[in-house]
Amino acid sequence: MSDHAVVLEKVSRTYGRGSTESVALRQVSVAFRSGGFAAVMGPSGSGKSTLLQCASGLDRPQSGAVRIAGRDITKMSEQELAVLRRDRVGVIFQAFNLVPSLTAWQNVILPSRLARRRPDAAHVRGLLHRVGLAGREGHRPAQLSGGQQQRVAIARALLGRPEVLFADEPTGALDRGTGHEVLNLLREAVDEFGQTVVMVTHDPEAAVRADSVLFLTDGRIVDVLDRPSAEQISLRLGGRR
Ligand code: ADP
Repeated sequence: MSDHAVVLEKVSRTYGRGSTESVALRQVSVAFRSGGFAAVMGPSGSGKSTLLQCASGLDRPQSGAVRIAGRDITKMSEQELAVLRRDRVGVIFQAFNLVPSLTAWQNVILPSRLARRRPDAAHVRGLLHRVGLAGREGHRPAQLSGGQQQRVAIARALLGRPEVLFADEPTGALDRGTGHEVLNLLREAVDEFGQTVVMVTHDPEAAVRADSVLFLTDGRIVDVLDRPSAEQISLRLGGRR
């Protein structure tokens, strides 16, 4: 197995054309280590979400290669990409993106239902237990706190035992304590299950839980810090918190 779960090589992504053109990523090259936890930081509009979307196969760059498990996903058909994403990638978002009419259990198994697969009930139960939602399987999102809803989203992302978990501001809508618990789950995915996490965040308290922090400015990676302190991160961001 490769040492890197996800590799981007000279990835460029531009939105719009002509006078409305906006370059989100400029020849970005980066490798995310297997079993590592990386945070992606940078000012608003620096390309963080675009990087995550290109790395996870939600978006296609105009040029460059994106390898997941050694395969260039930019060369794949939609169908091949859908299968790879289903089998190897999990994604969580700031806004949880749960279906309001479905219970926690039903939300977790939705991706496998859509893929016409029968989820293993013991695996689903185990995941809900792992994220601290045992006993709340039948609750709908409105009956759960924000932190609990994010836990459902994490269980859903973990259902296919993905090698890589991409998280876009996963604690952005949560208070500090609840956010910390969600970060514990991401840390656990890395430390106990050997999964790889790539997380976009603007919060130094979240980024400090990662093994490495990558800084983007204007579509370019301008710095990478290993195990930085919250102070180092804030300094690197320009003292803004
Ligand atoms: P960040 O996540 O760091 O805030 P984004 O990746 O969302 O940055 O955006 C990077 C740049 O790309 C910004 O200039 C933004 O305006 C532009 N951009 C992002 N998404 C779109 C889109 N769907 N259409 C047009 N421009 C976009």
